[in-house]
Amino acid sequence: MKSLIRAAAGSFAARSGALSAFERAARGALAVLCYHRVLPEAERARYHTPDLVVTPETLRAHCRILAERYTVAPLGTALAAWQRGEVSDRPLVAITFDDGYRDNMRYAAPILRAHGLRATFYVIAGLVDTDEQPWYDIVGAAFGPAPQEDSATGPADAAAALEKAKRLAPAERAAWVAALRSEPASRVRDDDLIMTSGQIRSLADEGHEIGSHSMTHPLLTQCADDALATEMGASRERLSAIAGRAVTGLCYPNGDHDSRVRRAAAAAGYAYAAALDPGLNDRRTADVFALRRWFIAQGRLADSRGAPSDALLRMELSGLSRRLFGRA
Ligand SMILES: [Zn+2]
Repeated sequence: MKSLIRAAAGSFAARSGALSAFERAARGALAVLCYHRVLPEAERARYHTPDLVVTPETLRAHCRILAERYTVAPLGTALAAWQRGEVSDRPLVAITFDDGYRDNMRYAAPILRAHGLRATFYVIAGLVDTDEQPWYDIVGAAFGPAPQEDSATGPADAAAALEKAKRLAPAERAAWVAALRSEPASRVRDDDLIMTSGQIRSLADEGHEIGSHSMTHPLLTQCADDALATEMGASRERLSAIAGRAVTGLCYPNGDHDSRVRRAAAAAGYAYAAALDPGLNDRRTADVFALRRWFIAQGRLADSRGAPSDALLRMELSGLSRRLFGRA
C-alpha cells in the first residue's frame, strides 16, 4: 500500500511540474547516493539484508537517468567543485558504494562505464586480498536466510542479530564473530569478498575515486583513541599505496560518527568524510566531515509494478521524498 501511494505521488509530482520546481530550488546543493552491493535478484533475496543490495537492472536504470539529467562525479571531485562555488544547470550528484565488494567490480563497474559515469568506492582496507568476510556478513549468514528455500531463519532474524552485535563492546563482538566463524560455514563466494588490490587499482585507473571505509569496519564511536587513529590512518595509507594516488575520502562504517571521530578523521589527513544521515548538503550548513547521503533501497524507489521509477529517484535526490514521506 505504502509503495502504491509513493508511486502515485511520484508520477503526480513528475507530471504536475512540482518535481521540476523542487529540483530547481535544490540547485546548488550536493546530493550523494549511497549504494552497497550489486547482485542479481536471486542472490539479493538470499542476502541477510536485502535492502543493502540493488540489482544490476536497478543500477542500470538509475545510471541512465543520472547520466541524462545530472552532473555526476566521484564525491571528492564533486565536493571540490562545489566548494569552489561552481554551479551547473544540472543538479550535482555523487555516486558512492560502501564496503568495496567484488560484486561492485563484476556488476557496477561495467554499468558505470557504459553510461560514462565515475563513482566513489569506500573499501574496508584490512580485508583487501583476503578470503575474510566483513564481521557483519559472518553474523548475518549465521542468523539470516540459508541458501535453501525452506530456511527457518530470515532477514528479521539477521537484523536482530546484527543489532545485538552492534551493541556489544568491540572485544566482545570480536569474540562472538570468531566463535561464529569457526562453525562450518557455507562456502564463501567470490562476490561476497572485498576487492583485490588489482581490482581497486583498475577502478582508480579508470577515474573512479577510492576512499577508505576503515581497516576492519568497527563502529568508530566505540573505538579507543589509538584504535581510531589506526583504523583511519593505516587504511588511508594502505589504500593510497594500492590505488596509486592519495586517498582523501573516508566513509564512516554504519554511518556512526561523533565530534571525536570527526576530529580524528581530519587529523588522519582526510579532506572529507561521508556519513549516512539523510539529506542534501547545503552549502551554508554542510560539515565536510559529516556529508549527508541518500541511502538507496531499491524497493522504495520502485513503481507499482516493482520496476525502478525515474520520478521516485528524482524525488529522492531533490529531497522531495523526504519532505513528503519522512525518513523511510
Ligand atoms: Zn559498511
